[in-house]
Amino acid sequence: MPRYDLIVRDGTLVTDAGVATSDVGVVDGRIAVMEPELAGDAAVSIDARGLHLFPGVIDAHVHLNEPGRTGWEGWATGSAALAAGGATTCFDMPLNAHPPTVDVASFDAKRAAAETSSVVDFGLWGGLVPGNTEELADLAARGVVGFKAFMSRSGTDDFPAADDLTLLDGMAEAARLGLPVAVHAENDAITAGLAARAVTAGQITARDYLASRPAIAEVEAIDRAVLFAEETGCALHIVHVSTGRGVARVVAARARGLDVTCETCPHYLILTEDDLEAIGARAKCAPPLRPAAEGAALWRALMAEEITFVASDHSPAPAELKTGDDVFRIWGGIAGCQSTLPLLLTEGHHTRGMSLPAIAAVLSGAVARRFRLPAKGRLAVGADADLTLVNLGAAWTLTVDDLRDRHRLSPFVGRSFQGRVVRTLLRGTTTFLDGEVIPGSVGRLVRPESGTR
Ligand SMILES: [Zn+2]
Repeated sequence: MPRYDLIVRDGTLVTDAGVATSDVGVVDGRIAVMEPELAGDAAVSIDARGLHLFPGVIDAHVHLNEPGRTGWEGWATGSAALAAGGATTCFDMPLNAHPPTVDVASFDAKRAAAETSSVVDFGLWGGLVPGNTEELADLAARGVVGFKAFMSRSGTDDFPAADDLTLLDGMAEAARLGLPVAVHAENDAITAGLAARAVTAGQITARDYLASRPAIAEVEAIDRAVLFAEETGCALHIVHVSTGRGVARVVAARARGLDVTCETCPHYLILTEDDLEAIGARAKCAPPLRPAAEGAALWRALMAEEITFVASDHSPAPAELKTGDDVFRIWGGIAGCQSTLPLLLTEGHHTRGMSLPAIAAVLSGAVARRFRLPAKGRLAVGADADLTLVNLGAAWTLTVDDLRDRHRLSPFVGRSFQGRVVRTLLRGTTTFLDGEVIPGSVGRLVRPESGTR
């Protein structure tokens, strides 16, 4: 009997403590030992010389849309794209699957779908919508990572926006359950009103769409959500913050002692509003892309650890929904989950000098801490052997053929990268190697450790 199921030899490990060369021994899917020149044999041995070893990426914000809208993505293709990008865990949003994850029946249906075909481990967000406050306790018992609410309309009729009373009631209940509420923070009256005004006037270009979702809509909604969180004692997470002012509101709330965090997405860091015109429908999202100054502010905030983590908000749709002259009618959502780590290596590490441990933190460690997943997000003895091997020096260009999601409509196609994922392992088993997704691994539900945050 070999002593280890797997030894990864001579990789450069990226940990909270820094970067150092070591071997990693794996037993039963967990890291059993980390030390150089590890003695003992193994069933499988991987030579990682020249490669960097990151903890597997945890993408806290994806829409894989199964069950119900599997034609938009699905667990098989969505998780394949995640694995190809170095991810080993994702948290799926309650929409745009149908039925949305707003009660135990829909939770169970989504969990069954994921356990059938996901090659990444998964957490599930529960939905907070008008009328389902009484379902939240049962969803918590099932293991949701938190509850997601929209402060503006979501775009799908089956997931209505949370009015202020729904948000207040839901946050009070989430506080009692010890789980965070995540909000899409845009003021609905402002965004819907400006959109109606523009469409009525026949102003339907990319610039008109951008103008209909101004920064003030995000900043006001964040302020209101923070106020409700303070009132209820709820932990609050702001998804996809797109402005420096939005982050500043979160930082100010935290300075007052509130439990408020935020994420941003690669597209807000890397693309600008000009890209909506240049790239077109693949770059439409809400909040929309912003002027370059906002991206610079977000980079500063990310490197100052004011933004807790980066998530893709992978939100795909078929090509027929991503076309047309009326930008307001084109389905919103950016399908980019495969590129998050390479984008941060390229634009963060190589271009801006962001340290590798800082990148590991915003893509893995900080997510695991925020959502109380002690087995995930770190290279440490006892943690799951979720490992991403990266060739940090590899220069390459993303092509459609590289993509593993269903519709392959990433706005990052054609971009040049430095730093490439060469292998991904989920609990010690390879899920992606040299451009190919390796079938056979089955993702498991991850759920927050109980107890106080
Ligand atoms: Zn989303």
